[in-house]
Amino acid sequence: MAQGDWVGSRRLLSRMRDLMAGPGTAQARLEKIAKLIARDMVAEVCSIYARRAGDILELFATQGLRKDAVHRTRLRVGEGLVGDIAARTRPLALADAQQHPLFAYRPETGEEAYKSLMGVPILRGGRGLGVLVVQNRTSRHYSEEEVEALETVAMVLAELLAGGELVPPTEILTGGGTGLMPERLEGLALAPGLARGTVRLHQPRVTVDHMVADNPDTERERLSQALEATQERLHGALQRLSIGEQSHDIIETFSMFMRDRGWLRRIDEAIQTGLTAEAAVQRVQDETRARMAQISDPYLRERLLDLDDLANRFLRELTGKTAEAAKIGPETVLVARSMGPAELLDYQREHVAAIVLEEGSATAHMTIIARALGVPVVGRLASVTSRVEAGDQILVDGEHGTVFVRPTGEVMSLFEATLEARSERQRRYAASRDLPAESKDGVAIALHLNAGLLLDVPQLVQSGADGIGLFRTEIAFLAEATYPDVDTQTRFYRQVMEVVGDKPIVFRTLDIGGDKFAAHLGDTSGENPSMGWRAIRLALDRPAILRHQYRALLRAGAGRHLRLMFPMVSDVAEFLAARRILDLERDILAPDIQPSRISIGAMIEVPSLAMQLPALARVADFVSVGSNDLQQFLFASDRGDPRVSARYDSLSPPMMRFLRRLVDECEEVGLPISLCGEMAGDPLTAMALVAVGFRNLSMPATAVGPVRAMVRSLEVAPLADYVSTLVSSEAPTIRPHLRAFAIDHNVFL
Ligand code: PEP
Ligand code: MG
Repeated sequence: MAQGDWVGSRRLLSRMRDLMAGPGTAQARLEKIAKLIARDMVAEVCSIYARRAGDILELFATQGLRKDAVHRTRLRVGEGLVGDIAARTRPLALADAQQHPLFAYRPETGEEAYKSLMGVPILRGGRGLGVLVVQNRTSRHYSEEEVEALETVAMVLAELLAGGELVPPTEILTGGGTGLMPERLEGLALAPGLARGTVRLHQPRVTVDHMVADNPDTERERLSQALEATQERLHGALQRLSIGEQSHDIIETFSMFMRDRGWLRRIDEAIQTGLTAEAAVQRVQDETRARMAQISDPYLRERLLDLDDLANRFLRELTGKTAEAAKIGPETVLVARSMGPAELLDYQREHVAAIVLEEGSATAHMTIIARALGVPVVGRLASVTSRVEAGDQILVDGEHGTVFVRPTGEVMSLFEATLEARSERQRRYAASRDLPAESKDGVAIALHLNAGLLLDVPQLVQSGADGIGLFRTEIAFLAEATYPDVDTQTRFYRQVMEVVGDKPIVFRTLDIGGDKFAAHLGDTSGENPSMGWRAIRLALDRPAILRHQYRALLRAGAGRHLRLMFPMVSDVAEFLAARRILDLERDILAPDIQPSRISIGAMIEVPSLAMQLPALARVADFVSVGSNDLQQFLFASDRGDPRVSARYDSLSPPMMRFLRRLVDECEEVGLPISLCGEMAGDPLTAMALVAVGFRNLSMPATAVGPVRAMVRSLEVAPLADYVSTLVSSEAPTIRPHLRAFAIDHNVFL
């Protein structure tokens, strides 16, 4: 934009601001503004459409069209050119608008006289509030600069529309979203369940309150201060958290954009047009988002997302708003690019209705926690963070991996019917919770729960499970700022044991590292954190941590049968070392407060341990397959990386053969074996596990009812025969064969 245009733009914006703040009703001010814009843009027509409840765009003010069309002309979002601009939230500039297939003629407006049209969405904080249109009698080609100038004007106009005098604020809220059409998005079902709620972006965007500035130099100065402050804050935070390798990435990204003259230049130009520094950053951020929506290249998208993140940091700095606390209203659906387990625990759990992610994987710990909390999760929804806005209505189907954004009435009522049917199914499961999980040919399967939080434990009674097969002790402490002392841990384990009562519970000792990062344990990152310094490896190197945990568990387990197991054991020597430390703790404990009995097991998560079963059987009381990690290590496929985690099926012949051999060898050496992790949570997979010989399975609480129903409808012997032939096949998965078997034999899935 040339120097003279900037001066013109600044003059227009400051006159708009004066008019907006001036006397008269909001309607009168809006009309004056329409007149001002038309004059300034050298257009015969300027019309302002506001978005009303029910996805309607209503003509609110016009200069040039017939006055009696105001408040009469209404279009649905998506209808006509104006509706299209609102639906797609993108500008349109047409030299011959009437030839456009979407043109919707409205006789009451008298617009047939005008040939060319330029329209832009009126956005505030990413939310679509209306459409601003100018029209000319002649066939005119609007330049890119003119479109940009109109967008800037629309941004300032948004303040007036959002003010609540023209359209009641409740309508603006319930209208919801970006002004986009309803959408159905297909992703990956990560945690089951259905939910309905309101979108909250996990990293909330900042709303800018002051749009127009008097002095561009002051704004430029503010921008450069914000740049410096952001950089300092980032460095400070990185040092404080000592997050190692990742810090290089963040700094690298940051400096890349600091060097990206293009990005800063665009912000600077927006300041020149008369916007405040924060409005300018938002303006450029909106452009970036629009670009993002059209880009499918993952690398480029990553970079643009980084840029978006950086813009948010700037905005917070410039507006003095630090990230809002994780306080949310009821029935909130969190939408994020990705989310860590501690981040999820920051939110008020009772209000989290569902989680929707661009990334995410089935065995990532955030997903596991969500599942334990009964929160449905859908992942792998590309660009979902730029397709929804805070406040949008959203339906999440964690059974099929489908998400409905801004659903129509019909979808909503269908969904409600499904919710009802589902709760009926749940009632049926609840009714059969006291029936034994015994197959038709008399094979009994012990069903246990995976748990980690106190609020998981009552599920033991509700689901009718036989016990807790895996209690992940680290989960409850993930979000803590400091490492919990022995008393805190003792209290916690005691509470858990009290709720569990007489049923068995297996405490898995701390498994920190990998994607379970607890800041107080220092830097656990590495090039491959899940196979790096984590779990038993970390615990053996920091024996004080392990001793404190043992002490707490031994005290809490006084007079009971205490069951412990060690995670990520790769070698029998590690098992023995961990056991020796336990013996030290037992020795210093008074005999009268000892557990009545102690059983110690190892998790089979690292394939190397499966090669040491005879030696392990001599020292361990039991083993439990950690199916998530075992699969990750068997296929060398990062369970947290969406690009590879679903590449190999858990129902593949190699995995099944491995598990069958494991069961057989354990039987030979007399080592009791069970399986935990997420694998047994799917009835079809559980069926395969029973077929290869597992008689003890631990799963998320929500799966107990469905798996019991499956077992009770199954005949194990014919299935075992069938599966023993299938595991030798060369197919990448035996899933379809198992499904066919289930259908043929009326197995309830
Ligand atoms: C597993 O790996 O299967 C397991 C149960 O441990 P976690 O998921 O906590 O790593
Ligand atoms: Mg594991």
